[in-house]
Amino acid sequence: MAAACRICGNTEGNRAFFPKEMMFGWREEFEYLECARCGCLQIARIPEDLAKYYPAGGYYSYKAPKQKRDPGWLLALRHLRTRYLLGEFSLVGMLLAKASKHQEHIDWLRGRATLDSRILDVGCGAGGLLLKLQREGFRSLLGIDPLIESDIDYGNGVRVLKRAVDRLEGEFDFVMMHHSFEHMPDPAASLKTLARRLAPNGTLLIRVPVADSHARRAYGINWYQWDAPRHLYLHTRKSMELLAAGAGMEVAGVVHDSSGQQFSSSELYVRDVPYVEHGKYRPGNGPSAFTQSEWDGFQARAAELNRKGEGDSACFYLRAR
Ligand SMILES: [Zn+2]
Repeated sequence: MAAACRICGNTEGNRAFFPKEMMFGWREEFEYLECARCGCLQIARIPEDLAKYYPAGGYYSYKAPKQKRDPGWLLALRHLRTRYLLGEFSLVGMLLAKASKHQEHIDWLRGRATLDSRILDVGCGAGGLLLKLQREGFRSLLGIDPLIESDIDYGNGVRVLKRAVDRLEGEFDFVMMHHSFEHMPDPAASLKTLARRLAPNGTLLIRVPVADSHARRAYGINWYQWDAPRHLYLHTRKSMELLAAGAGMEVAGVVHDSSGQQFSSSELYVRDVPYVEHGKYRPGNGPSAFTQSEWDGFQARAAELNRKGEGDSACFYLRAR
């Protein structure tokens, strides 16, 4: 009998694929199963030495962010802007917001959080996003990540604890996972644990690569977000809905947020170029680099795919049923 999908249990018609480690270009092959029922791609066997694939100083989210120290007046203005962006009107806030560039993280929080919300970032690396939110006025900020070296206390209210979700305490109004859920060995158990940590009207934001996308179909095992073996699961809308239901939750909204990288980096994987070298192919970096018009085309196609719900990554907003 074929291996069962670890999300929905299906054993019929599942297919095997063998993508390679290409972030660092080690080119080691890993077996993945594609579920014929829920569409979830999943690694056949979780490597015992997973930590090896997150080398210290090499994996992007573990580099300690630079600490900025801003004067009080600047913080006060920035907090007014954040309040306005979250929906609280003020003339100064409006003028500041109009003068600033679009802030994607506010889109995640608008209508779902206030400056006082208890915010948890799961798999936050060194906590760069939490530090940004602190500067913008959010007051209750905690991060957890099992792969950091040790706990970090930034001394400004932002703390990052070295731990996994099963050792988490407290209640939170807004829990977010930015490209960390796909790294979790047991997503169903982790989601159930997080659902219990969520306040009754809380929101759980899960940003993940999605396998039911144009780039996955177009590039197959060269799809850069496959990222074997770090991405243990590449979900679909269906597999996310199944996991949510299993945790007593429902998918209240989906927003696709893929970028032009689904083309630029996947094209480079087709050419066997490891991810760590992709910076050299940005426009202006020599004759083998993408041209500016190719690059702009990638961004335009990504925006179009996002509008159609076909981009290769998405924000899933979960709420209790
Ligand atoms: Zn399945």
